[in-house]
Amino acid sequence: TIKTRFAPSPTGYLHIGGVRTALYSWAFAKHHQGEFLLRIEDTDLERSTQESVDIILQGMDWVGLSPDNANNIVYQSKNFDRYKVLIKQLVEQGHAYPCYCSKEELAEMRERAEREGTATYDRRWRPEAGKTLPEIPAGVEPVIRFKNPLDGVTVWTDLVKGEISIPNSALDDLIIARADGTPTYNFCVVVDDFDMGITHVIRGDDHVNNTPKQINIFKALGTTPPEYAHLPMILNEQGKKISKRSGDTVAITEYDDMGILPEAMLNYLARLGWAHGDDEFFTMEQFVQWFDLKDVSASPSRMDGKKLLWINGEHIKVADNTRLADLVEKRLKNKGIDVSGSLKLADVIALVKDRAQDLAALANECAYFYVKATPDEADVAKHWDEDAAARMQRFADKLAQLDTWTAESIHDLFKPFCDEEGIKMGKLGMPLRLAVCGTAKTPSVDAVLALIGKEEVLRRMRG
Ligand code: GLU
Repeated sequence: TIKTRFAPSPTGYLHIGGVRTALYSWAFAKHHQGEFLLRIEDTDLERSTQESVDIILQGMDWVGLSPDNANNIVYQSKNFDRYKVLIKQLVEQGHAYPCYCSKEELAEMRERAEREGTATYDRRWRPEAGKTLPEIPAGVEPVIRFKNPLDGVTVWTDLVKGEISIPNSALDDLIIARADGTPTYNFCVVVDDFDMGITHVIRGDDHVNNTPKQINIFKALGTTPPEYAHLPMILNEQGKKISKRSGDTVAITEYDDMGILPEAMLNYLARLGWAHGDDEFFTMEQFVQWFDLKDVSASPSRMDGKKLLWINGEHIKVADNTRLADLVEKRLKNKGIDVSGSLKLADVIALVKDRAQDLAALANECAYFYVKATPDEADVAKHWDEDAAARMQRFADKLAQLDTWTAESIHDLFKPFCDEEGIKMGKLGMPLRLAVCGTAKTPSVDAVLALIGKEEVLRRMRG
């Protein structure tokens, strides 16, 4: 079976690029009836608090990407014993060796490497047949270095970028265990990908440089490396790498706060760097069915806020009204608007949902059904004066006489009233909206009045 994984480091937020990586890994696994696993890369014990792990889990939960090992998530911090056993094994088998270089020696090597353009470490402590190693300095704990092959090339066919080949001479004998015995990043990744049985590593292309090192470690452990697919970066609207520091919206929770629906977020991210013909708006089931790594773009993609909102609007249109009501209710509460009365929020949403591209806008569209808005000056200047005010009182009298209160019965009053007043229909709608809703921007005014209810409409018009 195909197995993929998402392996975030807990940094305090879940990056939108990480979510796309997770989405592609998930879709690839699901497309092949495989498994999608989660691994928390928390070897940096200082940064990796439980809180920042929870932020990742909550983010994954919000978008609805649930790993198949949800009850058995892999934490690197719990695998230290395992890493140590394998480091020992590699040393015993001659694939790794202790290095006693001092900081000063390493600094010298780095300078020389920069000058001469060679690999950094001069392999001083690398055991070779017929070579005499330096004398072991007293009281120094060594680091353990991996014995990278000296000749040949490390090649892989990246499933997004095509064949990549790196001469082994360009790769250092990397440190796999620090002097205090703790394992280093590239080594842990290999051990876990191996232990978890990962067949396809799908990750950001900031890891391309790590891949040849990891492949060589896989080989030294006597096993075959997985397939690799490196995803190009996500750029902001200015074409720079998307980052918190440049003020971009990066954390997935910020999109939740903005009022993006999780399924819209995934739909948008699916299309950010992957295409299936002209399809823009689709479900995750369709995505899984269509997804193929060969359709992932090899060049970076640019964020497009307008498109995200458009897709979100399309998802709002088809979302269940009761679910939307739950989401919008919280936003209305924050504005001090109580929706517990007889007017059902889900019914309001059914009427206004196609006018909003995010949940904040949707909440605004619902608000005036509960509390009359404060009209904006431009609307008042355009549609309101003494005549209009007096006319609205006369129209309120007509409304008061209605026995059946429906959009149709309200609508049926419009034409005779306008004829009586000698005005065009356009002269009624806007003042009526202002009088009842406090805003001129509403759907069909008869439907709006019908929902708000007779008593409340009259109260607002006469108040
Ligand atoms: N922990 C790495 C990151 O967050 C991912 C490593 C990998 O996928 O191999 O960038």
